[in-house]
Amino acid sequence: MSSAATFAQVSSAYHIQVILPLALRGAFTYRVPEHLVGDVEIGRRVVVPFGKRRYYAALIYKVNVNVPIGTKPKDISYVMDDLPVVTDQQLLFWEWMAEYYMSGLGPVMNTALPNALKLSSKTTIALNPAFEEYEAFTDDERMIIAQLSTHEQMEVSQLEALSSKRSIQKAISSLLKKGVVLTSEEMKPQTKPRTVERVELTPAFQKEEALNGLIEGLSNAPKQFELVMRFLEITGGDLLDGVNKPLLLQRSNATSAILRSLMDKGVFQLIEVFAESEEAHAVDGFELNEEQAQVVLTLKEQFDTKVCCLLQGVTGSGKTLVYAELIRETLAAGKQVLYLVPEIALTTQLVQRMKHLVQQEVQVYHSRFTDRERLTTWLRLLDSANPELVIGARSALFLPFHALGLIIVDEEHESSFKQHEASPLYSARDAAIWMAHAMGAKVLIGSATPSVESTYSARKGKFGFAELKKRFADIQLPSVHIVDMTKSKRADVMDASLSAELVEGIKAAMVQKQQVILFQNRRGYAPFLMCESCGWSAECVNCDVNLTFHKHFEKMLCHYCGYNYKLPKNCPQCNSAKLKVKGFGTEKIENQLETIFPEARIARMDLDTTRKKNAFQNLITAFEEGSIDILVGTQMVSKGLDFENVGLVGVLSADSLWNRPDFRAFERAYQMLTQVSGRAGRKGRRGRVLIQTFRVDHPVLEYVINHSYEGMYQHQISERQQFAYPPYTRIMQFKLMHTDAKFTKEAAVYFAGLLRERFGKRILGPEEPTIPRIRGRFIRQIFLKMEGSLSLKQSRKAVWECIDLLEGHESYRKVKFQIDVDPL
Ligand code: ADP
Ligand code: ZN
Ligand code: ZN
Repeated sequence: MSSAATFAQVSSAYHIQVILPLALRGAFTYRVPEHLVGDVEIGRRVVVPFGKRRYYAALIYKVNVNVPIGTKPKDISYVMDDLPVVTDQQLLFWEWMAEYYMSGLGPVMNTALPNALKLSSKTTIALNPAFEEYEAFTDDERMIIAQLSTHEQMEVSQLEALSSKRSIQKAISSLLKKGVVLTSEEMKPQTKPRTVERVELTPAFQKEEALNGLIEGLSNAPKQFELVMRFLEITGGDLLDGVNKPLLLQRSNATSAILRSLMDKGVFQLIEVFAESEEAHAVDGFELNEEQAQVVLTLKEQFDTKVCCLLQGVTGSGKTLVYAELIRETLAAGKQVLYLVPEIALTTQLVQRMKHLVQQEVQVYHSRFTDRERLTTWLRLLDSANPELVIGARSALFLPFHALGLIIVDEEHESSFKQHEASPLYSARDAAIWMAHAMGAKVLIGSATPSVESTYSARKGKFGFAELKKRFADIQLPSVHIVDMTKSKRADVMDASLSAELVEGIKAAMVQKQQVILFQNRRGYAPFLMCESCGWSAECVNCDVNLTFHKHFEKMLCHYCGYNYKLPKNCPQCNSAKLKVKGFGTEKIENQLETIFPEARIARMDLDTTRKKNAFQNLITAFEEGSIDILVGTQMVSKGLDFENVGLVGVLSADSLWNRPDFRAFERAYQMLTQVSGRAGRKGRRGRVLIQTFRVDHPVLEYVINHSYEGMYQHQISERQQFAYPPYTRIMQFKLMHTDAKFTKEAAVYFAGLLRERFGKRILGPEEPTIPRIRGRFIRQIFLKMEGSLSLKQSRKAVWECIDLLEGHESYRKVKFQIDVDPL
């Protein structure tokens, strides 16, 4: 018998499958040399050769696998980690994502792993100046430290060249984990967080008796008396708490000198703290009102049978408090909680609030954190199953949780939960629901304006449901008024952008010392530059879009590719000087307001003013402290911000919200208008909203005025059914892109043909998208609409066949191809 020999051969040849950090679909098989067999384990990283003399840090995905027939796997070079850096459960999640979003495992790994775990030869590193304990290092580590102390910074490849050993990456990786070295991203100078002065009682006066004595003694110093009383009012009597200095002075109408005299008496002290905004949210005692308490009960009951529940609650109804209660209970039961927010910029405000509400440290995870910070959070979770609360953007979903009990997806309707930039184009909301199923956790998705899909799922019984119908403390929802711009324009007020009504409204709010938020969904100064003599207009050379005029930079700028040039003095086509900017963006509105309200303090919040690390937070803090009167901004101003004193919200041009060729445009317009309106009148008196439009009869406006989510939903759901859109169908979108227009078109026709052979009438297109060319690439898109009864698995298989044919085609394989499952 030959079996003994065969057996011996197999057992000595140990093989593994790894995931490579490349845009490749599958996993790849490698041989493990005998001396490394003991180090091989699923979830550890290995360095492997791939392609021509290139090495990559890959992740071990399967061990002890069979060798695919007819292949001769290469050897792995060495193992980088002593312990796995990802869990089995994460790998299951990756598998699901790769399959569902049809991206393959490589792109999922690239999205999932924090940079610090994705070391490549190109990474630049340096010694961490803050690190001092040089002890217990391996020879390799010592060599690296020595090199780095004479060089300021080095590329990994330079270090590799210096060492005969290929294990140098392992040593670097270990030094990164220990915080001894940093990657280049972290060495960039960080903008310092803004600090504010906080007023606190000195320890001597943190006692009731001492304080009572003081208050009696102040009867002949009314200003000081007032200040102390305001302090106690704002802190709610918590003698250990503090108040931001500007807020305290503003509320008590006091000067710094009055505060100074109380400090001289030893009553108050000033502490410098990072700009955070706790005061506005210090919910003392944190007691749910009746409606909120009832909703918590309902949700808990529903979670007995449902994995996912939808919480609908009007703006300002206290959804955050409901989340907090469920978070507290989950943590108390020893489980972990993940809280996903749609906008990174919102985390600081939320983290402060949550710390207060759940009385626990909060881990934060998103892309504005440094590599080091993200790695630390990753390793911390990898190491333990302690009850942790993690707040983050969608990437936090990829953290190594061991004991996940609850995922919260706040503002679930937001499209930023979908990854749009790079494959996999996943939805963090939908992925959270899969993950909860797999890990035995629960998902709570919440919104004042839930997506049509989520409400549909709730009404079908797939999701549980609970609703908060009233704003907290019975504050009324704002009154919404429409301004007819066709009439307003005839009256020729200002420059088309600000109607007389809106200007009056702003004046009234200023008189009442209330703040104003103005919303315009276009940044820059003006979206068009036109020649009035010949009709020439400034367009991007790489994209089929107009260039936006940015006054501050004196530049024409493309918002898609960054192409820009100086504002021309004369028309490049006919040399006429009659160049005119048309339309208006946030920058122009800010300018106009400055002329109309010279005494008002005006600020702008858009991509251009919030690029720096703490810029957004600083604006929020300034607005909260009352040092901004009017805030002009893009959709950033609409998202979940909780301000106390906003009397008026103005929408400058609602028309742009629904003028889009997208079946979700109507729903989106409703959500945007309702959310931005919701910033008005959250504390105290009822807020006002003015919406400027050229189409006063647009049906969405009626639903917004009446705060009728139900009306919007019914309108939309019947349209979706009639035209076979989600939730009645599933959509896959395919994009083909190439620099040659004709070639792109041909490839798209070919690909659509392949799809049609398999899916027939379910295929729509190919068609030109609204912007047919971006960054020099022409785009064609094709849609696949799948009815509910169609097998998703079979469909994916058929789509893969088509992709294989496209990628195997001798010329069409050159097109760039992108697949979007459930596009948003
Ligand atoms: P939403 O997220 O639904 O828009 P928030 O959770 O931001 O609403 O609550 C709106 C405001 O009402 C917040 O300032 C919050 O502190 C306050 N609030 C809500 N519920 C309570 C409560 N039970 N006790 C004290 N304050 C509350
Ligand atoms: Zn011209
Ligand atoms: Zn461009």
